[in-house]
Amino acid sequence: MHLIGLRGMSREKMVGLLDAAEKFLDPQGKVTTPSEDRALLKGKTLALLFMEPSTRTRVSFEIAVQRLGGEVVTVSAEGSSVKKGESAADTCRTLASMGVDGFVVRHHDRQLPHVLVDRLKVPIINAGNGSGEHPTQGLLDALTLRRHFQTGEDLSGLKVAIMGDIVHSRVARSDAHAFSTLGAEVTLVGPRMLLPSDDRTEDWPATITNSRKDALRWADAVVVLRIQQERIHGNLIDAHEYAMNWGIDTSVVNGYMTPDTMILHPGPVIRGVELSDPVVDSDRSLILNQVTNGVALRQAVLKSYFN
Ligand code: ASP
Repeated sequence: MHLIGLRGMSREKMVGLLDAAEKFLDPQGKVTTPSEDRALLKGKTLALLFMEPSTRTRVSFEIAVQRLGGEVVTVSAEGSSVKKGESAADTCRTLASMGVDGFVVRHHDRQLPHVLVDRLKVPIINAGNGSGEHPTQGLLDALTLRRHFQTGEDLSGLKVAIMGDIVHSRVARSDAHAFSTLGAEVTLVGPRMLLPSDDRTEDWPATITNSRKDALRWADAVVVLRIQQERIHGNLIDAHEYAMNWGIDTSVVNGYMTPDTMILHPGPVIRGVELSDPVVDSDRSLILNQVTNGVALRQAVLKSYFN
């Protein structure tokens, strides 16, 4: 009923959601909605509570709800009573009393989705809880890899590096759980201060390296992450230095990557820091495929959790 994280989700459930998402993509890979699903959410209103900035996730959930015939109300911190000091949980309770049928929630507090699950009787979808998880991003990234590499039902045989600010990234955690549950080998790579301390833990089902060269030589695909500056207190990272040591530009691509190594990024991309302009716009970038697949995947998630 609720989608809070991918840690602990079974392979079967993940494969089922990816298969369901395929039905929301046409043969050219564009977003579609089969006619039998167009009224799936008719009469339902979903609230999108976004207390942290978002473009892709918020808009793609809005589009997904609308494509399935539902109504959507979006509440952000600016302009809502949260600004006056109301807790996000109370805001959700208020909206539930108005008859809202479910929530998609983004908030800096890792606990909030769990609190809402306890207090409300409607489905809760986590759209990012601080540095916790971002389950729909993990699933859409898995879908993007599965489609590009044609790996079959899951991601067996694939080697995926997740690079950059791992410890502060909810995408890194959801990706690591999705990819490893689906049979891929996962390695986390980045500067030591942005990496977890132990590898192959329950929290991080992956190996860890701080060699960009080794990781990029090894990987079939690399998921590049933004520095989550909003979660780094003190010790600010110098963008220029980071770009030199950890960014991917054409010379890094030519030096370390095979012609078939693909690049993903959940966005927003800070051009010139994690990725150079030509790399973002190159054929090896799957960034816009991720965005498209996100709408399909979110339709599949809504279908599964609101039916
Ligand atoms: N959009 C992703 C997130 O909300 C990644 C990022 O912000 O860098 O976690």
